[in-house]
Amino acid sequence: MLFFLFLSNCTTVGFHDDKVRNAIDFGEVQDLNVCVFHENSIDKSEVAELERDWAEELALYNIKLNFKNTKKVERFAFFGTDVLEELRHYKLNPECDRFVYMIGRTWGDIGFEVFSLGVFAIVGVKLEIHGAVEASSNTRGIVKSKYTSLLQLLFTSPSSTLIHEGYHLLGCPHMLFKDECYKIILETKTKNLINKRKDKIFYVRSTRNKEEFYSSEQVNFFWGSKKDFKGDNTQ
Ligand SMILES: [Zn+2]
Repeated sequence: MLFFLFLSNCTTVGFHDDKVRNAIDFGEVQDLNVCVFHENSIDKSEVAELERDWAEELALYNIKLNFKNTKKVERFAFFGTDVLEELRHYKLNPECDRFVYMIGRTWGDIGFEVFSLGVFAIVGVKLEIHGAVEASSNTRGIVKSKYTSLLQLLFTSPSSTLIHEGYHLLGCPHMLFKDECYKIILETKTKNLINKRKDKIFYVRSTRNKEEFYSSEQVNFFWGSKKDFKGDNTQ
């Protein structure tokens, strides 16, 4: 078990330190609007369940999560990295501060899972990526949202993957303890509060170049995004 714990630490955004966090005043409640792509095999109730779990985590920081728009889609590409690449084309707007793409499960995935579990058993390297956020603007990420194999569930769950990627979407890098992340979230909220631009997005500082993003125009220009996101359900 210790071995597994060690392995999963490689990709952690840190263990909580309740004492440190409780001593920080995160200020008034601010809204984080997320637009969600979900694949066919993930139904609305599963999307709602994931939203609930992530919302509970964000409530620790007085951040109110809203899945403003969701859209059911066919898989953009086989590999997660290619899906993430495709997401760059979608424009942020005041209703979409961030994009999350929920990956379902196909027969092709199951084959790849068996293959990567085999590799894991032999050489101890985990090929499978459960989730990722691009680090250039930290505004879009992918999350594998359907697991079944025991080994997958031992490592992680869709909710914990989403919560993990959620920290990246707020600008937190990987770390062992969350102390630094708490400071980043506090700074993010402070800068977000004073941001009065008409096309504002929930402020974020990228983990790669520490570039600051305040508006959808700025992010859309950065990525050269041209596609509008049109949800098939709005709330
Ligand atoms: Zn990560």
